[in-house]
Amino acid sequence: MTQEDLFKKLIAHSKEYGFIFQSSEIYDGLSAVYDYGQLGAELKNNIKKYWWEAMVRLNDNIVGIDSAIFMHPRIWEASGHIGAFNDPLIDNKDSKKRYRADVLLEEHIAKIEEKIEKEVEKGRKKFAENFDEAKFKETNPNVIRHQNKIADIQNRMNSALNSNDLDALKQLILDCEIVCPVSGTRNWTDVRQFNLMFSLQMGSTAEGANTIYLRPETAQGIFVNFLNVQKTGRMKIPFGIAQTGKAFRNEIVARQFIFRMREFEQMEMQFFVRPGEELKWFEQWKTNRMKWHKLLGLGDENYRFHDHEKLAHYANAATDIEFHFPFGFKEVEGIHSRTDFDLGNHQKYSGKKLQYFDSETGESYVPYVIETSIGVDRMTLLILSAAYREEQLADGEQRIVLRIPPVLAPVKLAVLPLLKKDGLPEKAREILNALKCDFYCQYDEKDSIGKRYRRQDAIGTPFCITVDHKTMEDNTVTVRHRDSMEQQRVAISKIHEIICEQVSFKNIFEQLMM
Ligand code: ATP
Repeated sequence: MTQEDLFKKLIAHSKEYGFIFQSSEIYDGLSAVYDYGQLGAELKNNIKKYWWEAMVRLNDNIVGIDSAIFMHPRIWEASGHIGAFNDPLIDNKDSKKRYRADVLLEEHIAKIEEKIEKEVEKGRKKFAENFDEAKFKETNPNVIRHQNKIADIQNRMNSALNSNDLDALKQLILDCEIVCPVSGTRNWTDVRQFNLMFSLQMGSTAEGANTIYLRPETAQGIFVNFLNVQKTGRMKIPFGIAQTGKAFRNEIVARQFIFRMREFEQMEMQFFVRPGEELKWFEQWKTNRMKWHKLLGLGDENYRFHDHEKLAHYANAATDIEFHFPFGFKEVEGIHSRTDFDLGNHQKYSGKKLQYFDSETGESYVPYVIETSIGVDRMTLLILSAAYREEQLADGEQRIVLRIPPVLAPVKLAVLPLLKKDGLPEKAREILNALKCDFYCQYDEKDSIGKRYRRQDAIGTPFCITVDHKTMEDNTVTVRHRDSMEQQRVAISKIHEIICEQVSFKNIFEQLMM
C-alpha cells in the first residue's frame, strides 16, 4: 500500500468510526474546517491532558491559564501580526490553483532529498556491511551535487523571504522549473503577500464597531497576562505559563486533512528567563519536548529536529519537531527562542511596564522567552497515522487496528458478555459499573465475540473483558489485549490493576521527570 493510499484509508476510517467529520458536511462542507466526533473528541482530550499535566503538574514553576480569543486589536500591531503575518502566495494561471510560494520550494527540496536517499540506498546495497553512510554522503558526486543544489535553493529562498523580495521568490520558482501539480505548467502569476488573520466587527452599531481579529496563536494571551500571573502567583524567574485553545488562520493552502486547518487548537507554553540564559533553556526545552513525544512509543526513528535557518524577526533560535507523516516529515511542534520581542513591544504599545524585578541580581528587566508550541489537531493526526494498521492474521483473516498508545486511547476497555442470556449481561454490567468511574468503557453485547473484538480493534481499545459462564462460577474473566491479541484469565478484582498499569500517565511521567 502506498503512503497516499494509507492516508486516504485513514481519512475514511476516521470518519467511519466517529473520530473526525468534515464540518458542515450536510451543506457540502467548509474547506479546511473539521469537527471531532465522539471518539475524536476523547482522543483530543487525552492528548491535551497529556500535555497539560506534563507541563503544569510536573513542573512546579509552570502554571496554566485560559485567556479570551478576542483581544484588543493593538495587541496584533505590537506582536507584528498586522504588519508581518503574511504568506507569499502564487497562482497557476492554467489550473487557477493557489499555492504558498515557500511551500512549493520546500516540496521541491524534499524531492531532491528523496533523490539523496535513493543514492544512499544504492550505496548501502553495493557496499553491504562496509557501508559508511556519513562518508558516502561526503564523497559521492551525485549526493554532493544534490546537496549543493539544496543549499543554493535554501539560501536564495531565505534571502528572498528575509528581504521580502517577492520577485526573487518567483524567479527562484521559475529557475527550479517547478510545475503546478494540477495543470503541469509553469504559467505562474507574480508572488503576493496575504495576511492570514480573520477580522470581524465588534460592537452593536456599525459606526461604533471596532475591527478585531480572531487570534492566530494563543501565545499573545500569555504575554499580555505575564505580570498578572507573575504577581498573583508570586512566580520567580525562570517560570512558565501554559495554555491550550483555539487559533484561527486563513490558510492559503488548506490541504492534508487536519494537518492544516483554518480553525485549529494549540498548546503553547512561554517560559520566561533571564536575558542571556535563553539559549541554555532553549536546548533544555528541545530535549524535554522531544522526550515527551518519544515516550509515547511510536518509534524514535519517526521524529527529527529541523533547525531553522531563516529566523523570524523576533527569534534568535528556532527548531521544529518533525514527524514522519504519511506525506513525509512535517512539523508538529515549534520551539522558539523569542528574545524580549513580545514583552518589549507590548510594553511599548501599551505604555505599561512589563518588567520583572530579580531579587537575586537586584535588577529589573524584560524577561526573554522560550516558547513551545504544538497543534492539538496535528498531534491527533500524528497519533492516528502512526496507529493505523491493516494486519494479516494467522487464521487468514484481516483486521484493522488502531495501535493508539493506551494512555491516549479514547475507550480504555470494553466489557463483553459472551452470550445475551444466563445472567451474563447483568454480570458484565456490574463489572462495567465498577470500572467506569476510573476509565472510559464501552459495553457491547451484539454480534459474535470475534466481530466485537474487531470493532474495538478498529477504534483502538486496548482491553476487552469477556464475561462467560465460568465468570458466574469463579469470578474470573478473560482479558484480551489489543496489540498481541493474547487472552489472559484473571480474577475480576485484578482487572483494575492490569488496566491502570497501561493507561495511567504515571509510568510516562516518571520517565519524563528523570
Ligand atoms: P506551518 O509552517 O506548518 O504553517 P507554523 O510554523 O506557522 O506552521 P506555528 O506558528 O509555529 O506554525 O504554530 C505552532 C504549531 O501550531 C504548529 O507546529 C502546528 O502544530 C500548529 N499549527 C499551525 N498552523 C496550523 C494549522 N493551520 N492547522 C493546524 N495546526 C496548525
